[in-house]
Amino acid sequence: KAGSADMDPATWAKVKDHPCYSEEAHHYFARMHVAVAPACNIQCNYCNRKYDCANESRPGVVSERLTPEQAARKVMAVASKVPQLSVLGIAGPGDAAYDWRRTRATFDLVAARLPDVKLCMSSNGLALPDHVDEIVAMNIDHVTITINAIDPEIGQQIYPWIFFQGRRRTGLEAATILRDRQLQGLEMLTARGVLVKVNSVLIPGINDAHLTEVNRAVKERGAFLHNIMPLISDPAHGTHFGLTGRRGPTAAELKKVQDSCAGGVNLMRHCRQCRADAVGLLGEDRGQEFTLEKLPEVV
Ligand code: SF4
Ligand code: SF4
Repeated sequence: KAGSADMDPATWAKVKDHPCYSEEAHHYFARMHVAVAPACNIQCNYCNRKYDCANESRPGVVSERLTPEQAARKVMAVASKVPQLSVLGIAGPGDAAYDWRRTRATFDLVAARLPDVKLCMSSNGLALPDHVDEIVAMNIDHVTITINAIDPEIGQQIYPWIFFQGRRRTGLEAATILRDRQLQGLEMLTARGVLVKVNSVLIPGINDAHLTEVNRAVKERGAFLHNIMPLISDPAHGTHFGLTGRRGPTAAELKKVQDSCAGGVNLMRHCRQCRADAVGLLGEDRGQEFTLEKLPEVV
């Protein structure tokens, strides 16, 4: 369980008002996501590009895509109505590190106006090592990396291809590069004092028995939280084109895998797999109050 009892004091000081990382804070502080980053550089078998990045969001969700300027206006409007707003995250709808220009522009605009809002982003990790210096310079507090496998034999069943250094790669080569970049990004960020959470999508029959190894590997490299999320099987979402017939885990299967990681990195058990444009306290979504056409022209 994530909480004050099992974190070192320095980490706790950084996360205590972050609703995702502290179970205490998630009742009092609000987060919002803005969906500014549509591009992605890999293919996950469980993803359907029509929807938000499934690494952080519930499947089947289409978030309102915004330009960085529109996103900044929206953040200002939310901040004026939701005083508990403490965190702004970019979780897609594609990959925030690959679509870096838009991610950076959004954070720069918001940080100039609301310097106290904490910034966080999530990524599949492939492009992450390229941006570590800027992430540190921009004071991005938290990064989430989705790591579903550290064994490329398993990874290749989850990722049919990646796009890296101008070329599409497949099979073991793709899974190996992705794994190496994810772990490299994790090590680089934690070495610079950025808090890193790791997400893993539990896919029964593919990586369920492997996630304890992922947990161990990310702990060694300084991840402070591991969030094992259930694959949510949804025909509309594409879990069926690459992972034919795969279903999500039952609650008991999820708990079994989570329990098998006991003693490793702290597990996060209250992630709600929020939309890429979620607004409000965890467990509530006031995003519909702040859609683009409802924003004032100038904030
Ligand atoms: Fe889809 Fe996210 Fe995977 Fe990209 S990283 S393919 S957007 S689930
Ligand atoms: Fe927090 Fe999980 Fe929602 Fe992200 S998806 S804002 S980590 S609860």
